[in-house]
Amino acid sequence: MKLTGEMLIGQQTVKGSCDPIHAINPATDEQLEPAYPGGTQVEVEHACKLAWSAFDTYRETSLEDRAKFLETVADEIEAIGEDLIERAVAESGLSQSRIQGERGRTCGQLRLFAKTVRTGEWLDVRIDPGMPDRQPMPRVDLRQRHIALGPVAVFGASNFPLAFSVAGGDTASALAAGCPVIVKAHSAHPGTSEMVGRAIQSAINKCGLPEGVFSLIYGAGYEVGTALVTDPHIKAAGFTGSRSGGLALWKAAQSRSEPIPFYAEMSSINPVFPLPEALKVRGREMGKAFVGSLNMSAGQFCTNPGLVIAIKGPDLDAFIAAAGEAVKESAAQTMLTPGIADAYASGVKGLSSSGKVKEVARGQAGEGPNQCQTGLFVASAQDFLGSEVLQQEVFGSTSLVVECTDAAELEKVAEHLEGQLTATLQMDGADLDNAKALLPILERKAGRVMVNGWPTGVEVCDAMVHGGPFPATSDSRTTSVGTAAIFRFLRPVCYQDFPDALLPEAIKQGNSLKLKRLVDGKREA
Ligand code: NAP
Repeated sequence: MKLTGEMLIGQQTVKGSCDPIHAINPATDEQLEPAYPGGTQVEVEHACKLAWSAFDTYRETSLEDRAKFLETVADEIEAIGEDLIERAVAESGLSQSRIQGERGRTCGQLRLFAKTVRTGEWLDVRIDPGMPDRQPMPRVDLRQRHIALGPVAVFGASNFPLAFSVAGGDTASALAAGCPVIVKAHSAHPGTSEMVGRAIQSAINKCGLPEGVFSLIYGAGYEVGTALVTDPHIKAAGFTGSRSGGLALWKAAQSRSEPIPFYAEMSSINPVFPLPEALKVRGREMGKAFVGSLNMSAGQFCTNPGLVIAIKGPDLDAFIAAAGEAVKESAAQTMLTPGIADAYASGVKGLSSSGKVKEVARGQAGEGPNQCQTGLFVASAQDFLGSEVLQQEVFGSTSLVVECTDAAELEKVAEHLEGQLTATLQMDGADLDNAKALLPILERKAGRVMVNGWPTGVEVCDAMVHGGPFPATSDSRTTSVGTAAIFRFLRPVCYQDFPDALLPEAIKQGNSLKLKRLVDGKREA
């Protein structure tokens, strides 16, 4: 596919007029062509107006038409072929197999949302039929369904150039809900963004949908992103990135005269708790497996295990020794961007120069630019509790082991943690009482609690929760991965005493859509 560097506003292509963004290949530091001149308030307003004019038509598309559209987007992405893989590898430094897997996940999640749309269960229809003869008071006829919130702004993530970018989880769930989407491309992968954006544009054309259902805008320097979340036509936003970026945009969204839901996924260090019996039985084995998880994609997963919390003693020493050996053997990996590599280096420096940690091991240094050298450090619980630096996320393959004197101190550390996407228990049968004591704390802290696994690897399915209390996300009531993500972009509307002819199809008397509706407290078959 030939890249032009143009923005996609509805079915039009528009050359920006602001400073151009150039993608950088982080493996070589080479600048990639073409240039992507940024948009201005003018293009943002144009895209938002188009999205608003498409909204009422798009949100009332039939379940089948909307599902077909999502499937067509997946087909169009696959049809780009190897050009997409090559460009995404060049723009991200991620391996070819990782990017191929991500394309599979991206198309798989679009098709999963198509399936979800077809069931209509997300409409969550509830009907309490009128009871005109009820004593002492008659009951009015009440019918509830969910409708789309309105146009959604999506900020592509740097660490998932396909699965959490232009046609990623936020976009797929918003489109599934019936919301037009305007994507602010991440400046690290504008070429990948253009390719995927054109695939969506083509799917809209093929499915005969209004052009405003999708637009793609570029822009560095935060102007475009801020203009987007503050445009009055935008009714919600999805973001994955840094805590500072997420908070700045969240504040902009809340300062509007009409504040809107802003779903930001920001910072998580994903604590792992190897409990005493598990450490005794398989400490060394666990140490090696832990480093496998830590090194995935140079640690640039939001679920990277950045913290290990355990009771000190010879069994924990064995875990640390095995993990240290695995760290020393770890090859350096290219990070996503020069900025992320610099932030990683300064985060590791902050830890090692804090005077509070001991270096266990460093991985191989690597020769090219933007290399991530794995790191493992250890600190006492007391020092961890007293130091903000030790508690901060270091985005990359570095982890800190926190040594506690006993179970009470371990619970104190757990209680002190900020909100997390995940918390992991490594346990054997004899650890059950310790696990039971920790669980209420972990449920309060994290969106996903797991046993004897590793947090990296997020299944896209119905039961997944990829969310959690602040700062993991800005709204702990929901998830950004899995089919439940659709509910972020819906709201309930109740229709009272409507004539059948005026009711939306889903809540009409006849149930022509064959939905499993809750009628008078009973689920229809
Ligand atoms: P980022 O700097 O937060 O950027 C994400 C997006 O938000 C980009 O489109 C960026 O615009 C925009 N943005 C950032 N700050 C903004 C502001 N103040 N106002 C308006 N728009 C703003 O994230 P990143 O570049 O992906 O990575 C930087 C750091 O974020 C990493 O080192 C890591 O710590 C963290 N991170 C966390 C996760 C996670 O899953 N938790 C994922 C990725 C990154 P531009 O395109 O113009 O920069």
